[in-house]
This record gives sequence, C-alpha cells and structure tokens, in this order.
Amino acid sequence: MKTILLATLAMLTVVGTSTAKSPKTQTNVIAHRGYWKTSGSHENSIASIKKAVEHKMYGAEFDVWLTADNVPVVYHNSKTANGILIQNTTLADLRAKADKLPNGEVIPTLDEYLTAWNHGSTKLICEIKRHRDDQRNRDIVHEIIKVMNAHNVGADEAQYITFGRTSIEELLKADVPQEIIYLNGDMTPQELKDWGVDGFDYSYKVLDQHPEWIQEARELGLSSNVWTIDDPALMQKYIDLGVDYITTDDPILLLELLKKSKKKK
Ligand code: MG
Repeated sequence: MKTILLATLAMLTVVGTSTAKSPKTQTNVIAHRGYWKTSGSHENSIASIKKAVEHKMYGAEFDVWLTADNVPVVYHNSKTANGILIQNTTLADLRAKADKLPNGEVIPTLDEYLTAWNHGSTKLICEIKRHRDDQRNRDIVHEIIKVMNAHNVGADEAQYITFGRTSIEELLKADVPQEIIYLNGDMTPQELKDWGVDGFDYSYKVLDQHPEWIQEARELGLSSNVWTIDDPALMQKYIDLGVDYITTDDPILLLELLKKSKKKK
C-alpha cells in the first residue's frame, strides 16, 4: 500500500512539474530600429527594413510619429537631427527642411516604409511614440491603422508597441487584429491580461528584477519581449529564461547565439 501511495505521489509530482513548466519556445530576434548595423543602412530607414527582410529577421522594430498634417512618419527622436519638432511640422516642411538620414535617405513615411517591406516575412514591430497630449495620442493610432489597412497588413504580420496608456486604450477600442504590447515596465502580467493587452516588451532592467514575469506571461497566454540587449551574456541569460523575443541592435550576433543554443539542446 505504502509503495502504491509513493508511486502515485511520484507520478503526481511528475505531472505537476510538467504542467507548471510549459514547453520552452524558441526565442526570436527583433532588430531594434530595423537592421542598420550594416553598410548603406541607418536606423528606421527604408534600407533598415529591406535588410531586416533580406536577412530573415523575425521582426523589425521601428518608431512612428505623426506630423502636424496627420502623416505617420518613421523616426526615433521627437526632433530631427537639425532640431525640427516632427509633431509640429507638416510633411512638406519636414521634407523641405529636415536633414537627410546619414545613409542619404529622407525620413520615410509609414506608407513608404510598408511599401519597402512589401509583406516580407519579417514581422513589423510598430512603436507608437508618445505625443504632446491625449488627442494626438489617439489621432496617431487611427492614422497608423489607416495606413496599415491600406497595405492589408495581416493580424500576424505586425504588432503595436507603446509606452503610452492612451494609445493602448485607443488600440483596444479600435479592436485591431494585431497584438497590442505594453512597453512601460510598470505592470505585472496579470494586470496586463486584465487590461486586455497581449503581452509586454520590457527593459532588461525591469525583467532582471522580475524574471518570473516571463513564465507568468506564458501561463497567461501573453507574449514576452525584452529590450534592448547587445551583450552576449545577457542575450544568453534571456534565451535560457525562455523569453519569446529579444530586441537588439546586434541581430546577427543574437542569431548566432540562438543557433548555438539550439545545437546544445
Ligand atoms: Mg522604439
């Protein structure tokens, strides 16, 4: 009897362990601001999305601002290199006055960026920047959706990421088919789930304090992404933690590490 009881307990322990630990999924590479650490490219440029597709990156992250005349453009900082505040400037003025990107391109519109992407296998990780007020944080969501729809971007071809709670609320209201991901690092996976978003994309500085959030997210059906990691030891740490995505400025290095990790398994 004792033996049977022990055997049953052992079996329960095995079952318990296997359900508590979901199977590890493959970590995927997100090229931060596209693939730009290569000749002829620059962050958030047309070349950066083309090269991300060429090199079969899983995803390419990029940043979107709304011009004063409601055109979404792809650029990181709020101001151009020569100090023009994008959200206060029309596209025509931006084209006339802004410095070119170091690779010779002009700041691309989202429409131009999506044309260059051309439904390549690389997923679009679209960061919606925080604008000066709630109205503009809502406006940008709708202008981006218009462009995405004009290009027939599918549910699995893109995800939206943002630090801005107003933009998240607007994406939820618009019921976009793509994933909605929160960047700000101040909510637990359960809070995100209750809010209705699909996952987090948090700084490694946040996740270093809460590595358990990766597993918690998986158990809740949320995705996990960590930014921005260029150090191989830190990349390996997050591969081992089973994060879904690592966002990096060095996607080739991460691809190599992932290949090695796969071989070891
Ligand atoms: Mg960004």
